[in-house]
Amino acid sequence: MFKNCIAGEWVGSEGRENISPSDTDDVIGVFAKATRKDVLDAISAAKAAFPAWSRSGPLVRHAVLRKAADEILARKDELGALLAREEGKTLPEAVGEVVRASQIFDFFAGEALRLAGETVPSVRPGIAVEVTREPLGVIGIITPWNFPIAIPAWKIAPALCYGNTVVFKPADLVPASSWAIVDILQRAGLPAGVLNLVMGRGSLVGQAIIDSPDIAAITFTGSTPTGKKIAAASVEHNRRFQLEMGGKNPMVVLDDADLGVAVEAAVNSAFFSTGQRCTASSRLIVTEGIHDRFVAAMSERLASLVVDNALKPGTHIGPVVDEGQLRQDLDYIGIGQSEGARLHFGGRLLERETKGYYLEPALFTEATNDMRISREEIFGPVAAVIRVKDYDEALSVANDTPFGLSAGIATQSLKHATHFKRNAEAGMVMVNLPTAGVDFHVPFGGRKASSFGPREQGRYAAEFFTTVKTGYTLA
Ligand code: NAD
Repeated sequence: MFKNCIAGEWVGSEGRENISPSDTDDVIGVFAKATRKDVLDAISAAKAAFPAWSRSGPLVRHAVLRKAADEILARKDELGALLAREEGKTLPEAVGEVVRASQIFDFFAGEALRLAGETVPSVRPGIAVEVTREPLGVIGIITPWNFPIAIPAWKIAPALCYGNTVVFKPADLVPASSWAIVDILQRAGLPAGVLNLVMGRGSLVGQAIIDSPDIAAITFTGSTPTGKKIAAASVEHNRRFQLEMGGKNPMVVLDDADLGVAVEAAVNSAFFSTGQRCTASSRLIVTEGIHDRFVAAMSERLASLVVDNALKPGTHIGPVVDEGQLRQDLDYIGIGQSEGARLHFGGRLLERETKGYYLEPALFTEATNDMRISREEIFGPVAAVIRVKDYDEALSVANDTPFGLSAGIATQSLKHATHFKRNAEAGMVMVNLPTAGVDFHVPFGGRKASSFGPREQGRYAAEFFTTVKTGYTLA
């Protein structure tokens, strides 16, 4: 059984099986289910480990993070296969995620050496002023199932880099990949209690973390409803929190777009990783002059994509993550049809050699922006084309959403690209690129209902994982 990690020990007695969505007969492993007491023990261990780790100094933290980065990279194929088997993204996508996790640890290994404060001349003669950054304490890290290696990496690496200790709760659907990262960090030389892993249900394990007054800050990625619970509990405990939540990202295609570029960007945005990305685009907002050509080219491209077992070479789109998510996707396909949108391509369940949750990519046309399929996050391979008159209408439809994570535009007009970058209500804007697919060392995050708090990734992570102190000394 794969156990929880508490105070440097692997513990747990009761477990649950984890099944591959590509092959429901394939049991990946048995993973411990943490109890409330386990969570409280993990928090106590992290609290006890904090004073020493926070004073451990840059070289110690650099060495652990660098070693973890090296091991993750050296094992990228094995970890990628585990991730593909567990979550259902294709092997190349999974290996790419593992490499990205290694790059994140590498980046923060460097940041551990670079964190600096500043001295500022005082406005009062004879006084020295310095501004320094300090760690916060115990960080609660709660992550979703769709990037079970990269998202934990982009939270754990900066938390440890800046001297915090951690209680980490991965999504219960994907414990194997997250377990592997914690195992690597333990063996890279983390002192006992600095990083604790508690696996299990959100309503029990996650809730116990957010209810604890000993958690100094919570960084969360997941759905908007869970994010709201975390916000309420954090306000109650007067603690810092960071939320990365859902998206309903628009991809605008203008008449002057390069059709090939637009179709590749749209197919990637909407359907790769089975549409299970917070940055996926399920709203394709297309101007009249290119609409019919775009829809025809999309259908042709979609027909060429292979939906199959994530581990099979040649698979372009893996299965949906589990039965519940599959049911939700099918429900939305039904809702789209009953709302009057036209199911132009796909949307059927597929049978393959192995028993998995295979859904043909579904493309709606004749959708409007007030339909539920255009407003609610589906989180599956389902996208809708919304026809608009011109760029102005496209921008207004793009921004007419409660979310604001990423937004894309396909155009050859510098004027429209520049205007869109300035005016799209999103944290990340892509020109002639998919709405998903981001660098690991620059700010990640959005606005409106998609995100709350400082950005993740890169040097901006210090804003969340440290607190500033201003010191005054009579010189
Ligand atoms: P989810 O909200 O169901 O779960 C996320 C995590 O929260 C899991 O670990 C879960 O166990 C935990 N959780 C659930 N209830 C809890 C509670 N009461 N207290 C504490 N923790 C609790 O989300 P999910 O289904 O795992 O992931 C899909 C969602 O994540 C989508 O909405 C997607 O857009 C979002 N997401 C956002 C980003 C981003 O960066 N904006 C990235 C990836 C995924």
